[in-house]
Amino acid sequence: MSLREQLCEYGRRAVELGLVIGTSGNLSVRRGDQVAVTPSGVALDRLTPEMCPIVDTDGHLIEGELQPSSETPMHLAVYQATGTQAIVHTHSVFGTVVATTMTELPPVHYNALLLGGVVKVAEYATYGTPELAANVRAALEGKQAALMANHGGVTIGATMEQAFEATRLLEWLCEVYVRGLAVGKPAVLTDEQLAAVVDRAANPPTFPRRDG
Ligand SMILES: [Zn+2]
Repeated sequence: MSLREQLCEYGRRAVELGLVIGTSGNLSVRRGDQVAVTPSGVALDRLTPEMCPIVDTDGHLIEGELQPSSETPMHLAVYQATGTQAIVHTHSVFGTVVATTMTELPPVHYNALLLGGVVKVAEYATYGTPELAANVRAALEGKQAALMANHGGVTIGATMEQAFEATRLLEWLCEVYVRGLAVGKPAVLTDEQLAAVVDRAANPPTFPRRDG
């Protein structure tokens, strides 16, 4: 699948899964110094490959008639800082709830380790600004995901599929936490418990074949 086809495919899935309403999110995927990004002002389930601009990593438009998403500076800053290959940004409901009420998402489930453990909430700044890009870059350091205060969430991955699955996981973790708060006080996993999970994952149980 071409870079632009990937944006169409995952844009459609993001809308289908309710992670994005219309234009409230953007995706990008990189190959070398070229970045395909979703355009400004088009609903993510209505994209065609030709609609998706291609920019270089300095933000110059290489291909496409439409303007790149207004959040492109944030995408480019993250590529520069992390060397990642794909980025998904959405205003998903539970991620945005956490991002408007908390300074970080505590690890209440061991799957949080897949995103780097605690998910930090990047300080608020106006959308599309270099300030927001810098805040997101800082919150993402050493992580696969960050939340953006009063805005939404962002995830990265070595492929678009990985970045997209990270967004689904981030939303699930936020939903578990928010729904947990409605029932009681969610227990947060300790550093020791998380270290034990890392150890367990590195040493999975083996099941010897029964003789005869
Ligand atoms: Zn946004």
